[in-house]
Amino acid sequence: MEHYATLPIITKFAIMPRITEIRKNHPFVAMPKVQKEYATAKFAYIDRKGQEWDFSRYEKANILSNGDTNTKTAKNTRKTKILYLVPATKSGVNYCEKASKGCIASCLFSAGRGAFVNVINARKNRSYLYNQFEDFFLQKITKELAKEATKLGKQGKVLAVRLNGTSDLPFVEMLYMKGLLSELPKNIVFYDYTKHKEKAGERKIGGFRYVVTFSRSEDNGKEALQVLDQGGIVAVVFRGQTLPKYWFGYKVVDGDERDDLMLDLNPRKGNGIVIGLRAKGQAKGEVRGFVIDCDSLSDCRVL
Ligand code: SF4
Repeated sequence: MEHYATLPIITKFAIMPRITEIRKNHPFVAMPKVQKEYATAKFAYIDRKGQEWDFSRYEKANILSNGDTNTKTAKNTRKTKILYLVPATKSGVNYCEKASKGCIASCLFSAGRGAFVNVINARKNRSYLYNQFEDFFLQKITKELAKEATKLGKQGKVLAVRLNGTSDLPFVEMLYMKGLLSELPKNIVFYDYTKHKEKAGERKIGGFRYVVTFSRSEDNGKEALQVLDQGGIVAVVFRGQTLPKYWFGYKVVDGDERDDLMLDLNPRKGNGIVIGLRAKGQAKGEVRGFVIDCDSLSDCRVL
């Protein structure tokens, strides 16, 4: 398929079952009729527990966050927009289908500003908004991206977009399938981290560059090596302040430098690149194997 030029594996048919599964599990889908009728406004709903959620503020308020609200994306060389939802099953819906126990325990979701109750609630609200009003949600983020990219385009600048700040969903693919990518100016580049091996790599989608780094966990080390062999990028979390020079013979670069680094690495087939990250916050004490304790700092070979 023309739109998936580099790695042709992800197709409309591979994406649809995942979206269907997400819909099937969302907390509003089995809402009793009486509660559905109790909806009090265009964007308000009562959930199974009887709690009312009013999303109407998102008709005006932004869904996407600015990159400078996060320490690492603030270091990006490109202006960045990022989407934060609640990861894994924390909203009652699984947004990270392939998350491991170790990565859930170490997830940066609660790091930095993410520890504040108002930030957590905002992320929950966005998550429920997406579950219940998917079309509105996708159209709204498209509008926000178009506005920012148009502004930057006048200055000859590019907008970097990470739609899975704390989730692992096929957002870019959904925007493409719904025809929304065609509404965006072309000075946008998308990037993401994923645990879906078939999604890792670089491709063109709807005319946009999309770079996806595979995220290594305690249960997918072999897949990580396959991605590297195919010339992909893999993120690996190491304990301690000093990163190894190589991981299984693949060059390690300092991923803490900035979040959009993957856009500038351009690895080649057989010569993948490792984005090395230092364990931070609660990940420092992680013991399931998500964080690697290296056997050697010259060529670490702990899978
Ligand atoms: S897959 Fe990523 S976002 Fe999801 S729980 Fe694991 S580390 Fe967090």
